Amino acid sequence: MLELSRFTRVVVFTGAGMSAESGVPTYRGRGGIWQQYDYREYACEDAFQRDPGKVLDFHELRRTHVLGCAPHAGHAHLAALQRGHPALSLITQNIDGLHQRAGSAVAAELHGSLWRLRCARHGVREDAAAGRFETRRCPQCGSMLRPDITWFGDLVDEAVFGRARALIDACDLFVSIGTSAVVWPAAGLIPFAHRPRPYLVEINPEETEGSERFDAVIRAPASALAQWVA
Ligand code: NAD
Repeated sequence: MLELSRFTRVVVFTGAGMSAESGVPTYRGRGGIWQQYDYREYACEDAFQRDPGKVLDFHELRRTHVLGCAPHAGHAHLAALQRGHPALSLITQNIDGLHQRAGSAVAAELHGSLWRLRCARHGVREDAAAGRFETRRCPQCGSMLRPDITWFGDLVDEAVFGRARALIDACDLFVSIGTSAVVWPAAGLIPFAHRPRPYLVEINPEETEGSERFDAVIRAPASALAQWVA
């Protein structure tokens, strides 16, 4: 059993595998979203410039799908751990908002959120959790709003990454859950080479490219978190 009370500052870093048992598909592998949809038509700035309506329709489909999914026991356990350990920071690559729905505070959403839109000029606006977007146009200037998500070819949000890096630099326990750790630059956040090095734990039912560099590996699905982490 991994006991969080033995550590001072804990970072939990989650990827698509965290949401897989809720029914949100991962990106790679069997059933992955990009096997079904060509990202060049739905998830890059060029596609949005060509046909914003088509891209927004696709994201409304994703929102509707995610609203039909519920956080699982692993999300709930993580939220409970966070209540008992105030220095547990959650950093996620997921855009689905399931951690928040389970009651967790998320310190950094590295790849944005399905529940926000942004205007190039007037910044980000929250968009209520419904299938349809509340509005597709910026109320201030009338231009089309794009999902506040890091798409293929986008630069990452440096402010969000900076916040994540600061938390990771200060942690003494780093727990990676459900990420293949191959999507850069998020994968580069795993503090393998830090000095001093935090204790590194991977929770994933499958081996990943980074598995052998962790100090401990728990081969279990995210929903079983309560059996392994207290
Ligand atoms: P990935 O698809 O590359 O890898 C998923 C990982 O999850 C794999 O290593 C797999 O073995 C593991 N996994 C599968 N089922 C699991 C389970 N039940 N419990 C624990 N682990 C399980 O995803 P990634 O590493 O997160 O990188 C893909 C990028 O796309 C990231 O930005 C990711 O967050 C984003 N994405 C987000 C969502 C979402 O918001 N739910 C969905 C797909 C992809």
